[in-house]
Amino acid sequence: MSAVAVEGVWKFYGDFPALRDIHLDAAEGAALALIGRNGAGKTTLLRTIAGFSRPGRGSIKIFGDSPREVAARRRMGFIGHGISVYDELSALENLMLYGRLYGLPNPRQSALEWLERTGLERVRDGLVREFSRGMRQRLAVARAFLHGPSLLLLDEPFTALDDKAIAVLQRLLREAQAEGKTILMSTHQLREALELATHVALLIRGKVVFHGPCTAEMVSDPGFVYAKYGEQ
Ligand code: ATP
Repeated sequence: MSAVAVEGVWKFYGDFPALRDIHLDAAEGAALALIGRNGAGKTTLLRTIAGFSRPGRGSIKIFGDSPREVAARRRMGFIGHGISVYDELSALENLMLYGRLYGLPNPRQSALEWLERTGLERVRDGLVREFSRGMRQRLAVARAFLHGPSLLLLDEPFTALDDKAIAVLQRLLREAQAEGKTILMSTHQLREALELATHVALLIRGKVVFHGPCTAEMVSDPGFVYAKYGEQ
């Protein structure tokens, strides 16, 4: 069964088709880099796959379930543009809250584990509003991984991160990949994504113009996919 199966998906904003007949498949354990210029539709596609937004037409399945079903939601972790943690709670309280929402058997233990894995254990009781941006970013990463998702949906995950958060996320993604988790990541930063990617999809004006395995020539020349399949 595919981890993600997108079939004939269209998404309209008013009359504007932001996604045009998208077909995309990610096998379990694949790491798919979704590339495309600003406005190509990457965010719209990831949000639609995550179930935050409904497609106008077409179907999306996450491990065979609709993305809006609880079973699918429990299996995905999302890192988007906003940092989805609460300012007035401590780092530990934030993660325990999410752990309870996900129905984890021991939210405190999971929270402590992920605070450690993201290097936040020493500030666990500090209020998030007093955190630096990098610390918040690492907390958002911890939140996305906390419930052990089998599918990670990451919208430009490296763009707003500081160096330490980038290193933390890269290590966690490599570990996730080694554990057979599936990763879908939109990016401009081709080099970082291609190091991890098993597959690449190029989106231009809401259409997938290329989708295939990541080859050695793509890794050595991140401009290759754009040059070969994109617009000049
Ligand atoms: P970026 O890298 O800049 O985030 P993107 O590839 O993620 O770009 P989207 O944000 O998905 O692209 O946007 C795709 C298209 O849909 C763009 O033309 C954008 O202007 C339009 N769009 C996105 N969100 C909305 C909205 N809420 N209402 C109207 N148009 C929108």
